[in-house]
Amino acid sequence: MTTPGPPIEADAATAPFFAAAARDELLLLRCKGCGAWHPPEVTTCCGPLEWVAAAGRGIVVTWALVHTAPHPDFADAVPFRTAIVELTEGPWLQVRLTAAGEPAAGSPVRITFAHPAEGASYPVGVLEGP
Ligand SMILES: [Zn+2]
Repeated sequence: MTTPGPPIEADAATAPFFAAAARDELLLLRCKGCGAWHPPEVTTCCGPLEWVAAAGRGIVVTWALVHTAPHPDFADAVPFRTAIVELTEGPWLQVRLTAAGEPAAGSPVRITFAHPAEGASYPVGVLEGP
Protein backbone atom coordinates (compact mmCIF):
# COMPACT_ATOMS: atom_id res chain seq x y z
CA MET A 1 0.00 0.00 0.00
CA THR A 2 1.26 3.44 -0.76
CA THR A 3 -0.17 6.76 0.23
CA PRO A 4 0.92 10.17 -1.00
CA GLY A 5 3.03 12.60 0.94
CA PRO A 6 6.62 13.70 1.29
CA PRO A 7 9.19 10.94 1.92
CA ILE A 8 9.87 10.25 5.59
CA GLU A 9 13.50 10.06 6.67
CA ALA A 10 14.18 8.14 9.87
CA ASP A 11 16.84 9.49 12.20
CA ALA A 12 18.80 7.63 14.87
CA ALA A 13 16.00 8.03 17.41
CA THR A 14 13.25 6.79 15.10
CA ALA A 15 15.15 4.16 13.08
CA PRO A 16 13.81 1.18 15.09
CA PHE A 17 10.22 2.43 14.72
CA PHE A 18 10.47 2.85 10.95
CA ALA A 19 12.46 -0.38 10.46
CA ALA A 20 9.61 -2.20 12.20
CA ALA A 21 7.05 -0.38 10.04
CA ALA A 22 8.86 -1.75 6.98
CA ARG A 23 8.13 -5.24 8.43
CA ASP A 24 4.45 -4.33 9.06
CA GLU A 25 5.09 -4.21 12.80
CA LEU A 26 4.11 -1.41 15.16
CA LEU A 27 6.57 -0.60 17.94
CA LEU A 28 5.93 1.58 20.95
CA LEU A 29 8.22 2.59 23.75
CA ARG A 30 7.89 1.03 27.18
CA CYS A 31 9.64 2.21 30.31
CA LYS A 32 11.72 -0.42 32.06
CA GLY A 33 11.30 1.54 35.30
CA CYS A 34 7.51 1.85 35.65
CA GLY A 35 6.21 -0.22 32.73
CA ALA A 36 4.36 2.71 31.15
CA TRP A 37 3.78 2.62 27.38
CA HIS A 38 4.71 5.70 25.37
CA PRO A 39 4.25 6.90 21.78
CA PRO A 40 7.32 6.92 19.52
CA GLU A 41 8.17 10.59 20.06
CA VAL A 42 8.64 10.32 23.85
CA THR A 43 12.27 10.51 24.96
CA THR A 44 12.19 10.18 28.75
CA CYS A 45 10.41 8.48 31.65
CA CYS A 46 11.59 7.32 35.06
CA GLY A 47 13.70 4.53 33.57
CA PRO A 48 15.25 3.46 30.29
CA LEU A 49 12.87 3.16 27.34
CA GLU A 50 12.76 0.10 25.13
CA TRP A 51 10.97 -0.59 21.84
CA VAL A 52 8.25 -3.23 22.26
CA ALA A 53 5.81 -4.68 19.72
CA ALA A 54 2.28 -3.32 20.03
CA ALA A 55 -1.00 -4.98 19.08
CA GLY A 56 -1.70 -2.51 16.28
CA ARG A 57 -5.27 -1.89 17.36
CA GLY A 58 -7.07 1.03 18.92
CA ILE A 59 -10.02 3.37 18.78
CA VAL A 60 -10.58 6.78 17.24
CA VAL A 61 -10.27 9.61 19.76
CA THR A 62 -10.93 12.33 17.19
CA TRP A 63 -10.51 12.83 13.49
CA ALA A 64 -10.48 15.53 10.82
CA LEU A 65 -11.08 15.74 7.11
CA VAL A 66 -8.10 17.59 5.63
CA HIS A 67 -9.16 19.75 2.66
CA THR A 68 -6.01 21.82 2.14
CA ALA A 69 -2.80 19.99 1.26
CA PRO A 70 -0.32 20.50 4.11
CA HIS A 71 2.55 19.85 1.66
CA PRO A 72 2.65 19.95 -2.18
CA ASP A 73 3.07 16.16 -2.26
CA PHE A 74 -0.43 15.84 -0.77
CA ALA A 75 -2.03 17.89 -3.56
CA ASP A 76 -3.62 14.85 -5.23
CA ALA A 77 -4.63 13.28 -1.91
CA VAL A 78 -6.97 15.90 -0.47
CA PRO A 79 -9.42 15.56 0.99
CA PHE A 80 -8.17 12.82 3.33
CA ARG A 81 -8.93 11.82 6.88
CA THR A 82 -6.45 11.97 9.71
CA ALA A 83 -7.18 10.64 13.17
CA ILE A 84 -5.77 10.42 16.63
CA VAL A 85 -6.03 6.79 17.68
CA GLU A 86 -5.80 5.56 21.25
CA LEU A 87 -3.90 2.32 20.94
CA THR A 88 -4.79 -0.72 23.04
CA GLU A 89 -1.61 -0.14 25.07
CA GLY A 90 -2.70 3.44 25.86
CA PRO A 91 -0.53 5.81 23.80
CA TRP A 92 -2.14 8.00 21.19
CA LEU A 93 -0.89 7.87 17.59
CA GLN A 94 -1.80 10.25 14.77
CA VAL A 95 -2.40 8.38 11.52
CA ARG A 96 -4.09 8.89 8.20
CA LEU A 97 -7.22 6.81 7.73
CA THR A 98 -7.02 4.94 4.45
CA ALA A 99 -10.30 3.11 4.19
CA ALA A 100 -13.74 4.36 3.36
CA GLY A 101 -16.28 4.66 6.12
CA GLU A 102 -17.36 7.34 8.50
CA PRO A 103 -15.20 7.53 11.63
CA ALA A 104 -16.59 8.43 15.01
CA ALA A 105 -15.13 8.66 18.47
CA GLY A 106 -14.68 5.08 19.63
CA SER A 107 -14.58 3.56 16.14
CA PRO A 108 -12.22 0.57 16.14
CA VAL A 109 -9.06 1.00 14.08
CA ARG A 110 -6.49 -1.48 12.88
CA ILE A 111 -3.01 -0.21 12.12
CA THR A 112 -1.54 -1.20 8.78
CA PHE A 113 1.48 0.20 6.99
CA ALA A 114 2.19 2.29 3.94
CA HIS A 115 5.32 1.34 2.00
CA PRO A 116 6.02 4.30 -0.29
CA ALA A 117 8.51 4.03 -3.14
CA GLU A 118 10.63 6.71 -1.45
CA GLY A 119 11.25 7.18 2.24
CA ALA A 120 10.36 5.13 5.27
CA SER A 121 7.29 2.96 5.71
CA TYR A 122 4.82 4.32 8.22
CA PRO A 123 1.60 3.35 10.04
CA VAL A 124 -1.84 4.21 8.73
CA GLY A 125 -5.25 3.43 10.19
CA VAL A 126 -8.05 1.31 8.76
CA LEU A 127 -11.54 1.63 10.25
CA GLU A 128 -13.03 -1.67 11.29
CA GLY A 129 -16.57 -2.69 11.89
CA PRO A 130 -19.77 -0.75 11.18
ZN1 LIG B 1 8.73 5.20 33.77
